[in-house]
Amino acid sequence: MFRNFKTVSHVIFGRGCFAQLSEILSDRRKSKDGFMVFLVDDVFTEKPLKERIPVKGGDLLIWVNVDHEPTTQYVDDLTLQVKNAQNRLPDGVIGIGGGSTMDLAKAVSLMLTNPGSSADYQGWDLIKNPAVYHVGIPTLSGTGAEVSRTAVLSGPEKKLGLNSDFTLFDQMVLDSELTAGVPKAQYFYTGMDCYVHCVESLSGTYLNAFSEAHGKKAIELCREVFLEGAPDSDDKLMMASYMGGMSIVYSQVGICHALSYGLAFVRGIHHGIGNCLAFDCLEAYYPEGVREFHQMMEKHDIPLSRKGLENVSPEEVDRMVDVAVTLAPLWENALGPDWQRKMPREKMKKLYEEIVAGG
Ligand code: NAD
Ligand code: ZN
Repeated sequence: MFRNFKTVSHVIFGRGCFAQLSEILSDRRKSKDGFMVFLVDDVFTEKPLKERIPVKGGDLLIWVNVDHEPTTQYVDDLTLQVKNAQNRLPDGVIGIGGGSTMDLAKAVSLMLTNPGSSADYQGWDLIKNPAVYHVGIPTLSGTGAEVSRTAVLSGPEKKLGLNSDFTLFDQMVLDSELTAGVPKAQYFYTGMDCYVHCVESLSGTYLNAFSEAHGKKAIELCREVFLEGAPDSDDKLMMASYMGGMSIVYSQVGICHALSYGLAFVRGIHHGIGNCLAFDCLEAYYPEGVREFHQMMEKHDIPLSRKGLENVSPEEVDRMVDVAVTLAPLWENALGPDWQRKMPREKMKKLYEEIVAGG
């Protein structure tokens, strides 16, 4: 049975295209008293971008904080704030920021039309009702959140996305000018998220021509950006993020992502850096990818921050394994249908011990 995936229906790409957001939204403003909700990364509170956000009349601009990756509680609080603002649904939700902010925007747009807590919908195709119209505008490239059908959230029991066709943005605005101010290390870590998406997709057992076509182009762009320092690197990384995201839509990520989820859930390690820490220890599984990753790290003089991994107890390692082991499709993609035999708990535990100890 082949899966019939939805994709984002509208895309605008190009340096400066953010200026067209007002026009794009005007077609979606249903009535004179309709309103839009802008969820914007609070890193921009004092930046010129603030003045360029097309906030009109009754629109709501909410600064979101992503010092911690999005939680179901944060989504529920934001949803309530939006619901109470005018006691009716907005015409649209626009997320402006990195993967965390885009995921918050996706999740809030879903929770405005679906009852209960976002924690009830962590999983696959649990969402029943279409979301409010929603737009993704990345200011940081790599996660592929702009094209994916998931909004990744940490909940009371697990870190797992709201995966559904309704989750996909209705529109994305890809303007690489917005990524200009990203700190160097963050640019690298999130860029490596894309690189790892490609390596895991291209070496996985789920690989097919659809995923391979997107993955190969994306990894080529990553090489141009991180090994050759190509001109227009910001544009190229934005497209790599998109293509890498498209690649995993029809395949899956692998061991690195499974381990990174455990690090995030137990120790709050952010996705990009968590992937780098895990990938650093996975040469046995992704030999060429890890070697190239080390070259990229060296070329950009990026240290791997181990902040948050101090004094990890054996019980915490066990909990990390508990999280990783639930992600069966990721392991199966990496190791095949008999992954449980190839990767027993003890082996997974050893990998975590290596990551925690620093390779
Ligand atoms: P992020 O959104 O967490 O942001 C990281 C940091 O960069 C933050 O401090 C943020 O304020 C800052 N930042 C963002 N844009 C900036 C800019 N233009 N200038 C200066 N600073 C800027 O980082 P991310 O790596 O893009 O996203 C990680 C999140 O995405 C995780 O929560 C992860 O689970 C999620 N994710 C989602 C998907 C998906 O398909 N939905 C895929 C991969 C990862
Ligand atoms: Zn990722």
